[in-house]
Amino acid sequence: MLLALSVLLLIFPPTLSAPTRDLCTTGKNKLLLTIFDGFRWDYDRDVDTPNLDKMAEEGVKAAYVTPPYLTITSPTHFTLLSGRYIENHGVIHNVWFNTTTRQRKEYYMTQFVDEYWDNGSLPIWITAQRQGLKTGSLHFPGTAATYQKETIQVREVEPKAYDYTNETAWRENVDKVMKEWLKDQDLDFVTLYFGDPDEAGHKHGPDSSERREAVKKVDRTVGYIRETAEKHGLSDHLNIIVTADHGMTTVFKGGQVKEIVLTDIPGFSYKDLQFHLLDYGPSAMLLPKEGLLDKVYQALKGGHPNLHVYKKEDMPARLHYSKHPRILPIVLFADPGYVINGFYPIQTNKGEHGYDNEVMDMKPFFRAVGPDFHSNLLVGPFETVNVYPLMCHLLGIKPEINDGSLDNTRHMLISNGEPCDSGADVAESSLQNVFIGLAAVAGFLLLAFVVVTSYNMYKRRKINPKAKDTGDEDEMKADSKQTSF
Ligand SMILES: [Zn+2]
Repeated sequence: MLLALSVLLLIFPPTLSAPTRDLCTTGKNKLLLTIFDGFRWDYDRDVDTPNLDKMAEEGVKAAYVTPPYLTITSPTHFTLLSGRYIENHGVIHNVWFNTTTRQRKEYYMTQFVDEYWDNGSLPIWITAQRQGLKTGSLHFPGTAATYQKETIQVREVEPKAYDYTNETAWRENVDKVMKEWLKDQDLDFVTLYFGDPDEAGHKHGPDSSERREAVKKVDRTVGYIRETAEKHGLSDHLNIIVTADHGMTTVFKGGQVKEIVLTDIPGFSYKDLQFHLLDYGPSAMLLPKEGLLDKVYQALKGGHPNLHVYKKEDMPARLHYSKHPRILPIVLFADPGYVINGFYPIQTNKGEHGYDNEVMDMKPFFRAVGPDFHSNLLVGPFETVNVYPLMCHLLGIKPEINDGSLDNTRHMLISNGEPCDSGADVAESSLQNVFIGLAAVAGFLLLAFVVVTSYNMYKRRKINPKAKDTGDEDEMKADSKQTSF
């Protein structure tokens, strides 16, 4: 029987019988973070989105997510990459500026200003690389910059005047990321950026048919991403997160409302300003000339019923947009539907973002699917600062200091956020293996006992059916000897 037990243990070692895969996050799966710029949380409500629906059935869908304030592209992307609020990571605007020279660089050229991005907070690409992973990024804001003398290992920065909306180019980008980067070059983590439905939302408004067409394009692309992952054999070990940087709301047009034009406000004058960021949608920042801060502030405060005016230190704490030295001394923001103009209304967009992050129209969507995520799970809203610790956990890397927490997203994971290499988990897993092993041995012993006992009784009755009845102890001992171990 000992021999049989040894054979049994060789065939079914306890470690192989333990279903540990679902109990912890291995950190070995790849991760793709995909952004569809300006995809508002409810954009799937008035458009058929079969691929997004399928992704939700097979993965996790959040009701919505809350971006950081200021709800514009580069700052909110850097929050996803660092897990920090904007006042903590310092990428405070899409525009780089120098208040002394009054020089500005718009969104695209700002991509190449290293010190604007490399500002104390390390993006996840560099953290992952330092911990032995291979990373890539395609068109994601922040891709071009060098961080603490390191760049993203594999990267592609869009050319100037790039058409961010071309679906054929989108598919080529998906092919490149899936085949060349994740499969052939075996990258562990990739960020992938698409510029719609933001463009359609700005140009035609969030309620336009053009925006709905852009959402259909996003849906086809999500289908293509998952299909391509399957084609290249990646699906079983690739987690995919699809989300956005901010939402979009309709801009009220002239005649409907009284527009916000600063020079119409009594007491306000450009002459009092050293520098300004005006005419960038619903938010603005001002640097008054020396000694004129109070004058400018008092003039603007209460100057328009839909204009909010703050000295930076008085900004509502919940917005996390006051501490960084790059934030100018006076911060302005408008109510939904309004934009802030300097001299006269020159802004032509039908849709805008950049408003208070509590405004529902500023909230993006969020979906995730892959081996580490639950399927068919709808979760409540959470702030996008929490995406960073989630991604670090999925990749099995140690996060930098950040403002998020895995506690806000761990319920999406099959592992409930337990890493496989944690001491507690290893101990738990080992203990489980021991129990399973002991149960197998006990089961086998019981089976052997039943078989042997039955055989003995059968044999005894066959050889001497009356032995037990007549109390012949010698014969019983003889039988016992024959069958004892
Ligand atoms: Zn954006």
